[in-house]
Amino acid sequence: MTEQAPIVIVGTGLSGYSLAREMRKLDKEQPIVMVTADDGVSYSKPMLSTGFTKGKDADGLAQASTDTMAEQLNIELRTFATVTGIDTEAKALLLGEERLEYSKLVLAWGADVIRLSIDGDGFEHVFSINDLMDYRAFRKALAGGKRVAIMGAGLIGCEFANDLRNGGYEVDVIAPSDVVMPGLLPEPAAAAVQHELENLGARFHLETVVERIDRAEQGVSLTLANGEVVHADLVISAVGLRPRTELAHAAGIETGRGITVNRALETSAQDVYALGDCAEVDGHVLLYVLPLMACARALAKTLAGERTEVKYGTMPVMIKTPCCPTAVCPPAPEADGEWHVEAEGSDVKALFRSPEGEVLGFAVTGRFAVEKQALSKEVPPIHQ
Ligand code: FAD
Repeated sequence: MTEQAPIVIVGTGLSGYSLAREMRKLDKEQPIVMVTADDGVSYSKPMLSTGFTKGKDADGLAQASTDTMAEQLNIELRTFATVTGIDTEAKALLLGEERLEYSKLVLAWGADVIRLSIDGDGFEHVFSINDLMDYRAFRKALAGGKRVAIMGAGLIGCEFANDLRNGGYEVDVIAPSDVVMPGLLPEPAAAAVQHELENLGARFHLETVVERIDRAEQGVSLTLANGEVVHADLVISAVGLRPRTELAHAAGIETGRGITVNRALETSAQDVYALGDCAEVDGHVLLYVLPLMACARALAKTLAGERTEVKYGTMPVMIKTPCCPTAVCPPAPEADGEWHVEAEGSDVKALFRSPEGEVLGFAVTGRFAVEKQALSKEVPPIHQ
């Protein structure tokens, strides 16, 4: 390895670009190479589920071109360059036949969408939206269409349901759970969001799954396990994400649900770090923006020579269902306590209290949503 090998960041999502920005606050000259499998355009992924509400298409959601990013951050940017392997002994990335040496390597390569294997011949009408290029393809395919079926009633499925209704599309949501956003929202808050989405015109088909997707004269028909048939022009698959671990695992780097890192974002391999959707940080896989920003700030300091551990604090999640404003700060999975609920129609305030009365988590909807800041101050941080 040469002495001049740069710091290499793989991924130009919010994790990669946030890290590069934080690094440049501390060191303007350190050579940085960023490598990405996509077009490298800078955008805010959470905004993908707000396009119709905000009247923006894929171009409107783009924030900066690759040229602008390369110039602003003083980096070398390699787009449409897919990493195929890591040689941790030789400190080199493999890009097909090419080897790219690094002094330090940061994996910020996100999570893969889970793709269901469903019978039928309509699969070219099924879209997963996990980056701006996916969104561009979806909007192009939607032109002229009127009806969208969404598989999955999690945060992303519900946000797209609200956004597409705001865009005037017919929306059917199909999911195996009996409530929306199971595992994220307590039942009364979930019921409030579902109720308001239904008021907005979204149709829910819960406790069932899609068994077949077949081409129809126009679009596709989805056959559900409960016998219903749903007609749609396009289908969004929003059934979950899985941190990208395979290449790291193949390189001998420790992985669990994500790429295993400690609070200094160090993997088990020398000089290799990870953050964002691909990382399992001190046991936590958190596919949200606030954790990755905290990680980017800490890791920038470490890379500048001051080893720094990330502190997460309390990180509420805002759910972008404007028909029912919602914020949630889930209690830790192992937390001891129970939900205490105050509800009036779709205005729900649910507090998860310990036996001693301490607030360990909350979910607020409707008019209670404004209390999120005050409640966040009561909830203990993830890392003390
Ligand atoms: P990504 O943005 O996925 O970036 C991964 C990068 O790695 C890409 O550049 C990709 O091309 C590159 N890459 C992958 N594999 C390779 C390879 N082999 N070689 C080279 N490059 C590679 N979070 C919130 O906190 N609040 C919200 O309201 C919210 N809303 C959301 C709405 C939607 C629709 C979605 C999809 C997510 C939302 N999230 C939200 C989650 C949040 O957006 C993500 O946690 C975050 O954007 C992840 O960023 P990342 O940089 O880690 O990964």
